[in-house]
Amino acid sequence: LNITLLAGGVGGAKAAEGLAKSPYASSTKIIGNIADDDEFHGLWVSPDIDTLIYSLGDQIDRKQGWGRKNETYQALKELKALGQDTWMTLGDLDLATHVYRTNLKRQGVSASEITEQLAKRHDVCVPILLPTDDVVQTRVKTPQGWLSFQEFFVREHCQSDVLDIEYHGIADAKPTSQALEQIANSDLIIIAPSNPIVSIGAILAVPEIQQAVEKSGAYIIAISPLISGKTVKGPADKMLESAGKSIDSTGIYDCYRTFLQAMVIDCVDQEDVAWLQAQGLDVLVTPTLMKTPEEKTALLTKVVEFALSSK
Ligand code: GDP
Ligand code: CA
Repeated sequence: LNITLLAGGVGGAKAAEGLAKSPYASSTKIIGNIADDDEFHGLWVSPDIDTLIYSLGDQIDRKQGWGRKNETYQALKELKALGQDTWMTLGDLDLATHVYRTNLKRQGVSASEITEQLAKRHDVCVPILLPTDDVVQTRVKTPQGWLSFQEFFVREHCQSDVLDIEYHGIADAKPTSQALEQIANSDLIIIAPSNPIVSIGAILAVPEIQQAVEKSGAYIIAISPLISGKTVKGPADKMLESAGKSIDSTGIYDCYRTFLQAMVIDCVDQEDVAWLQAQGLDVLVTPTLMKTPEEKTALLTKVVEFALSSK
């Protein structure tokens, strides 16, 4: 059995942890999102990949869902005193990750290899693959102009209206052979309850990745990131709206319609079942809010079992 999880940051990491603690851990590989990457204080930061690594390594700040536990902010305070912009909250432990990543990047080490080393440091046993080793950066067009993803997400707290989204550098990005091979060899592809536009969309937008997903013989199942038409956290609703999609299960389906076989929706969204089934989808209705480790494992185990029995 070969399972691929397509994952963004917080929603992606919850699904990744669920799989890592399920009976299917050793059959799973994750493909993460690098399009939220950016440079701060001369350092290369890869927020979604670090969220995956810190979560799977149990080093994450569980209250926030990102950043390191037992973190301190001495370096950031000093940078602020030096007059630097410090809206991107980077703690001391976290900064060490970014110093390491930047140093290796300058020596010509690929982003995939750096990810592997960081994962090893945190004893992450589920491999994390990247869709590309090239730089791709999501930009968000707002009434004030184009913002980098982190400016929109962190500095502006997602408050601006979203007029458009682009993945800068995407046309020249080369897919990694590891990601293409993993997708081609998958029996099952699970799409985490991640932002369909800036997390999963940015992975699929890397040339050849979406085609590989469409061509793979895998059974493809998506867990909806929306519960009752609302995001658990983050701007997926605004982004769906700007892409002209409806903010419910049908809008999520629309993002993945060229390859999706099944969808997992929350019990409160029972009313969407008939419509989704009419599109030819298998539908699993179950509680999808994951707060505790038990809830993560229970949901992901159920998703795999449902997929294997429907396949
Ligand atoms: P980000 O990169 O940190 O923004 O995280 P992702 O893109 O991976 O995930 C963001 C999405 O996860 C949001 O749209 C949330 O609604 C969704 N999400 C977060 N926690 C849960 C959960 O427990 N259950 C479900 N169904 N969705 C969740
Ligand atoms: Ca993200």
